[in-house]
Amino acid sequence: MNDISVLGIFVADISFSGSKIPAVGETILGNKYIVGPGGKGCNQAIAIARLGAQVNFISKIGKDFYGELAMNTLKENNINSHSVIQDENLQTGVAGILIDENSGKNAINVIVGAPSTFKINEVDKQIDLIKNSKIFLTQLEVPKDVILHCLKIAKESGCLTILNPAPASEITNEFYNYIDFFTPNETEAEFYTGIKITNEQDAKKAANKLIKLGIQKAIITLGEKGLYYSDGKEDIYLKASRVKAVDTTGAGDAFNGGLAYGLSKGKTISECLELANKVAGLSTTKLGAGNAMPFLKDIKIL
Ligand code: ADP
Repeated sequence: MNDISVLGIFVADISFSGSKIPAVGETILGNKYIVGPGGKGCNQAIAIARLGAQVNFISKIGKDFYGELAMNTLKENNINSHSVIQDENLQTGVAGILIDENSGKNAINVIVGAPSTFKINEVDKQIDLIKNSKIFLTQLEVPKDVILHCLKIAKESGCLTILNPAPASEITNEFYNYIDFFTPNETEAEFYTGIKITNEQDAKKAANKLIKLGIQKAIITLGEKGLYYSDGKEDIYLKASRVKAVDTTGAGDAFNGGLAYGLSKGKTISECLELANKVAGLSTTKLGAGNAMPFLKDIKIL
């Protein structure tokens, strides 16, 4: 039995930090520049592997410079990369990230590249990995037909499924039947429910609306305010860890990785939420996305 399979993308994050995010038409002189691993799927896989669970990454990349970065990243983090297709005719994805170093906030443009061509028959070659996993985790960065196909098979095979519905984009009602955990951030939650979240009451309303759509458990991440969980019977609100955030890129990914890890180890829901909140908080204290994921030894509550 595998612990966790993650379907998603790798992109090379090219990050620029400076005293602000430049406005349209404005040029600023920034202070720091880094290139590192990113892409929600890869970030989530790194977060899981660094906590110590076994993880398969199902993805597609090019055979180019950033494709090398992808393979090296997966190897260094002990992530199973046999399920990554390398296609020499396609480009590995990249993301341009602008960071305000005072608040840690960012603006991002992602070019998905190779995985935007993912087909069901390609993912089917890896389907046994998913079927034999305790947890199946994915996002909305690969084609929707592939995501739905995998969610359905995962659910039918008895996996716990997590959909991190990011970036926000329309999904059919059928998706909701195969989702145990749905983990939008505030803006994504507003996109799926039409409810603007400004306080705990709004988060409760949005979570209830998601449950009515058919998902089992909603977790709305609230950035520096923490998170709101509901399964329709039990509600949990947790404040974020008190940390000095320098770059919040990948905080949601750290959260989803921490959640998947906790669930794969059979922890209770409140233990999983506390853990994911801590993993996500710590990830904001370092620059970068994949490289900012904390290790098991950094998480003192375990
Ligand atoms: P996303 O990165 O997907 O936009 P959020 O901004 O909601 O997601 O952040 C996800 C989680 O990361 C939060 O629920 C919280 O646990 C943690 N987090 C985010 N920003 C901060 C912060 N400034 N301080 C502490 N924790 C944070």
